[in-house]
Amino acid sequence: MSYQHILVAVDLTEECDPVMKRAQALANSTQAKLSVVHIVEPMAMAFGGDVPMDLSMLQQQQFEQAKERLDAFAVKYPQLSAESRHLAYGQPRQEIHRLAAEQHCDLIIVGSHGRHGLALLLGSTANDVLHGAPCDVLAVSLKKPAA
Ligand code: AMP
Repeated sequence: MSYQHILVAVDLTEECDPVMKRAQALANSTQAKLSVVHIVEPMAMAFGGDVPMDLSMLQQQQFEQAKERLDAFAVKYPQLSAESRHLAYGQPRQEIHRLAAEQHCDLIIVGSHGRHGLALLLGSTANDVLHGAPCDVLAVSLKKPAA
């Protein structure tokens, strides 16, 4: 069985390229459609909940900047048309799952740092996305080779 529609979750750091390249190779070999998503996390979440000020202007700017960065990233990959670039606001796991279901994706691809120890306790987006995903999930290893 080959994949029909692959959704790549990107955090818009320099680590997106290896994830995207793996996704592109897979999409080419299976003739799958490729889409990309970036989730803008609410500022209040970063501050741990209650913030006694209006963040709506800042959040609007944060969203616009993320859109510019997503567009700049996507132009490097000709398969990513404007319609296949998605930007959502909220919690990454929830929004990635929602979009994958809405777009009838059959594979989600994320990067994975293969954390261990204390970092593992803090959790990772790859781990989070895996649980309760509406389709298959591929975690592309971002571990740096041992020196
Ligand atoms: P992390 O566990 O936060 O280091 O992220 C690992 C992977 O999760 C990244 O390589 C992305 O594939 C995905 N990811 C993390 N944050 C986001 C985000 N805000 N939007 C979309 N994908 C994300």
